[in-house]
Amino acid sequence: MSKLFKIDDRLFRTKKATLDFYCALCGVQRSMAYRARLSKKNCLQILIISFVVSCFLFPLMSYRSGFSVFFIWAIFETVTRTMFKKNIPCPHCGFDATLYKKDVREAKKAVEIFWQLKKEQNTSENLES
Ligand SMILES: [Zn+2]
Repeated sequence: MSKLFKIDDRLFRTKKATLDFYCALCGVQRSMAYRARLSKKNCLQILIISFVVSCFLFPLMSYRSGFSVFFIWAIFETVTRTMFKKNIPCPHCGFDATLYKKDVREAKKAVEIFWQLKKEQNTSENLES
């Protein structure tokens, strides 16, 4: 009975969430869509893509075309880390845990900027309507 009326406390649902946690500042339940590290699926994709690229480069570079795996691995790693870091700041309060770990004052400033921008957006929306 209670399961029927259970209200999901997350404001936004994330498909295939890799990590569920609560925001340290506003307490809203959040979930991350991206991982910090490469998954097994990503490793398989790297191998397949590097194999195809090596096949195309083999007439030009012979056996050295096999080193393309490191280049593609670096691209995957960079994209994965960038997506993860972009996903960290809270969309509700602007709190960035990684920034807080590095520098508390910078994190506080980032939250203040977030609220200032939100306030400006709201006033401009009110003026338009
Ligand atoms: Zn928050």
